[in-house]
Amino acid sequence: MKYNVRVVGLEKIGNNLKKLTICKPKGFEFVSGQHTMIFLEDGRPFSITSRNEEENLEFLIKVYPEHDGFTKKLNKLEVGDELMIEDARGRIQFEGNGVFIAGGTGVAPFISIAKNFIDKEKNTLIFSNKTKNEIILMKELKELFGETIFTLTQEEKEGYENGRITKKLIEEKIKNFDQTFYVCGPAQFVASMKALLNELGVKKIVTEF
Ligand SMILES: Cc1cc2nc3c(=O)[nH]c(=O)nc-3n(C[C@H](O)[C@H](O)[C@H](O)COP(=O)(O)OP(=O)(O)OC[C@H]3O[C@@H](n4cnc5c(N)ncnc54)[C@H](O)[C@@H]3O)c2cc1C
Repeated sequence: MKYNVRVVGLEKIGNNLKKLTICKPKGFEFVSGQHTMIFLEDGRPFSITSRNEEENLEFLIKVYPEHDGFTKKLNKLEVGDELMIEDARGRIQFEGNGVFIAGGTGVAPFISIAKNFIDKEKNTLIFSNKTKNEIILMKELKELFGETIFTLTQEEKEGYENGRITKKLIEEKIKNFDQTFYVCGPAQFVASMKALLNELGVKKIVTEF
């Protein structure tokens, strides 16, 4: 089912990173971790970062201003503008405390899930990002998760791990491989993380694809 919704806010929270807030339409329900299609002329999937109980739906959008794509159009929206969404879907949802591994905006579904944590101390986030421009986002993630490990692939800064998420990094930071592992990000990132977790003997991996 499709719903017409109004934009409530479009806030800059980092370098080309925006928080989009829209009215949650009547009858629209979702499970934390799911995504919806956002339609302008055509549609793209975006994970919902708010909780089902909230009155608005929130999204974390990475804008690519360098090409004439969907997010450039999305970035021109103003409060009061209308767009369309459809029923939520997706396989990522909470299946027990564990380790959440995210690349870039792949962290979005984990934000919604973390907002429901009963015992955040039992959950760890490993977040790989290009730069630490998204300071507000990092601050929110630190508040949501028990332990946060940030790795930066383009900047080398104190307090952050440098480079990509490697087997060595995971082995250093995580001691229990019997817990649930969640992975979200670009397809290549998900594939390499899954291969790496399989090597480490992880049995339960939750991903979208
Ligand atoms: C399940 C799911 C959940 C998602 N959740 C989120 C989310 O929460 N937040 C988020 O930000 N994104 C999310 N995405 C990604 C999102 O759906 C879009 O793919 C993304 O926003 C594409 O943005 P775009 O502006 O590049 O648009 P598009 O119009 O889709 O353009 C992408 C195309 O442009 C091409 N392109 C790339 N660079 C250039 C360039 N320099 N010049 C010309 N063409 C180029 C690429 O080949 C690509 O095919 C999700 C994707 C999936 C599958």
